[in-house]
Order: sequence, then structure tokens, then C-alpha cells
Amino acid sequence: MATPVFRFAPSPNGRLHLGHAYSALLNEKMARETGGRLLLRIEDTDVTRSRREFVDGIFEDLRWLGISWEEPVRIQSGHFGDYERELQRLWQMGAVYPCFCSRSLAKTLPTRDPEGQPHYAGTCRSIWREEAEARMAKGEPFGWRLKTESDASMWGDAMISKRGTGSSYHIAVVTDDALQGVTHVVRGRDIEPATPLHMQLQRLLGFPTPHYHHHDLIRDEVGEKLSKSKKSVSLLELRAQGVTAEEVRERLGFPSILHGPA
Ligand code: GLU
Repeated sequence: MATPVFRFAPSPNGRLHLGHAYSALLNEKMARETGGRLLLRIEDTDVTRSRREFVDGIFEDLRWLGISWEEPVRIQSGHFGDYERELQRLWQMGAVYPCFCSRSLAKTLPTRDPEGQPHYAGTCRSIWREEAEARMAKGEPFGWRLKTESDASMWGDAMISKRGTGSSYHIAVVTDDALQGVTHVVRGRDIEPATPLHMQLQRLLGFPTPHYHHHDLIRDEVGEKLSKSKKSVSLLELRAQGVTAEEVRERLGFPSILHGPA
């Protein structure tokens, strides 16, 4: 069997918290147990939210946890050309269309997507190709929407590359998993609803579909999902409070690095 390839793919828009530590440690454990490789990927296509200091923070926190990864680390903001190439292929095959609607003016439907956002009414789907090409050539801002099918239709015509921010999470994650030969995607349940969308993109682009495992989310004391936006306590803060990496690993249910394999 080919060597399994795992990846931990955080977005540098805040410091890592226990939820990230769990995801990283689980990837590391599964890679170790299957004789696989572990990659680290920095998902910073959203240039409005990503910061260099958080990239450094990711390296620092993972090293502190005792995790090692292969070099070079793929940093997505250095590869926009790869995502653009795949978007153009999708455009040529008629699977996506440019949407010129601004966020505030886009017409929506009464139904909502898994993130609670109203479905887009599909206004720009009916723009003729020639007109769309002309508007793009003129420099009118737009984002790419996928004509979602079957399992992914719960998203409506999902934006896979956003206007303005450079953010292209869905196309970037699928392109990179394929380019990097990722065979096992291990990530939180919060991203599970996006997986049918990713699988549709893989089918369209002729990419293999990796194995997916979505793990439970680590909850804080009040049972809320940990997230950077809610200012959950970061690994950096835990460290400052004197918590050791050993204690973090233990709390998350991972055997001690010092004691070696059982
Ligand atoms: N970059 C995403 C995040 O930080 C994870 C993407 C993935 O694992 O597929 O939430």
C-alpha cells in the first residue's frame, strides 16, 4: 500500500487553542500509527484575516507540543496561481460562474446553508458568457460560484473564491490536497458540511478523493465550541500560566511523548 499522507492545515487568523492542538495531535498519532507522513499547511488565502505573527505562532505552538512535520511547509498565499488555474478549468467546463453581486446587494432565497447564511438566488448564473468575460476583463470585482450538485446542493451556489479578500478556501484546500498527495484528511466536525462540496470539486477536477475523518470538537468548560473568534484560551496563554505541553497532551488524551510507545 502507498504511504498514507496526513496534513494539519490551520488558518493563521489567531493563536492556536486546544481544539487545534487536538487536531494536530490526532493527525500526528494517525500518521505515526500507519507509518504515514505528516504535512503542515498554512491556509492564509484570506488576506484580510491572516497575519504573519500567527504563522510564526503556529510553528512555535506545534514545536512546543512536540510535533514535527515535513519541510517545506506549503503556504497558500504563495500559490494563488495554482488555484486560479483550477478555477479557469472549472470556468471552461461550465461548472462555475463569476458572480458580480456585492455581498449586501446579492439577492437571496428564504433557505439557508449549513453556516446559516441565506442561499444565493443565482442571479449571475444567467449572465451570458461573452458578457461575463467582458465584465471580468474590465476589472469589475467578482467571486466564483460553483453550480452545486446533489450532496453539495445544501450550500446553494457556493462561493468558492471570494471577491475582494482573495479568500478561496474551498478551491485551495481541494487543489492542495491533490497536489500534495494527501490521502487522509483528519479535521474537525465543524468542517464536515463542506466535505460534499470538496468532493464535487474533486470529481470535476479529476482529483482523487482522500479518506475523510471528522473528529469531535473539544469543548470548553461551558460546553461551547472553542474558537479563536470567541477568544478561547490559546496555547500561548496556557503556557504563560505554567501549563506544560505534557499536561496539554494528557488532557487531550494523547500519550506522553517522553514515555514513548506503550
Ligand atoms: N484551514 C481550515 C481551518 O483552519 C482547515 C481546513 C481543513 O482542514 O480542511 O479551519
